[in-house]
Amino acid sequence: MTDQLEPMPDDWQRALAIVAHPDDLEYGCAAAIATWTDQGREVAYLIVSRGEAGIDTLAPAEAGAVREREERASAAVVGVTSVEFLDHADGVIEYGTALRKDIAAAIRRHRPELVITLNPDDTWGGTYWNTPDHRAVGRAVLDAAGDAGNRWIFPDTEAEPWNGVRWVAVAGSDSPTHAVDVTDGLERGVRSLVEHRAYIEALTDQDPESYARDLIEGFAHQVAERFGGRPAVTFRLFRR
Ligand SMILES: [Zn+2]
Repeated sequence: MTDQLEPMPDDWQRALAIVAHPDDLEYGCAAAIATWTDQGREVAYLIVSRGEAGIDTLAPAEAGAVREREERASAAVVGVTSVEFLDHADGVIEYGTALRKDIAAAIRRHRPELVITLNPDDTWGGTYWNTPDHRAVGRAVLDAAGDAGNRWIFPDTEAEPWNGVRWVAVAGSDSPTHAVDVTDGLERGVRSLVEHRAYIEALTDQDPESYARDLIEGFAHQVAERFGGRPAVTFRLFRR
């Protein structure tokens, strides 16, 4: 694992990050987003569900609002103010044309050059089975980046077709190709995960601050050996 990763492209202004759940972006990717918003880039979030099935001790009717609030607070920490929710049902998000259409419509509205999503592969690192929501959403995002530019596909969306997506960057991939130096964004990356306090408190007995710091700093420093010794967040980059 000593092959060096390429730096992420930096000739872009607008990104749209599209994931299944509140917290998906905060498990690493947010440190890169903090670094980008510092540079004056615009990043918006589109969250496909409200994560309402994510807290064992809290019924979905209450959990959805809690998790939406936590996600908006997390986004604010890394300079993101545009956070939209699609309201697909957490845990049972279906891959299909309905999901592709919702995502394509959002891409047409936001007109991003870079689209970001989360690992859609079967596993995390070959050892943990991935969730059906992550598989469905990641694949639909990769597909919808193309759908958005074709005016004959989903012709009745409100916004005009947008064929300007140049890359889709997959966070959390087992086979990353690119990375971003997060020296400046790392601390906010940690704090953005801490904002998911209700979620983390139901998940672990560990204090949320130390839980978030161990994970986020651990990921970033683990990558350093493949990125010139700098703490980094990795992506698998698909060009369009
Ligand atoms: Zn998730």
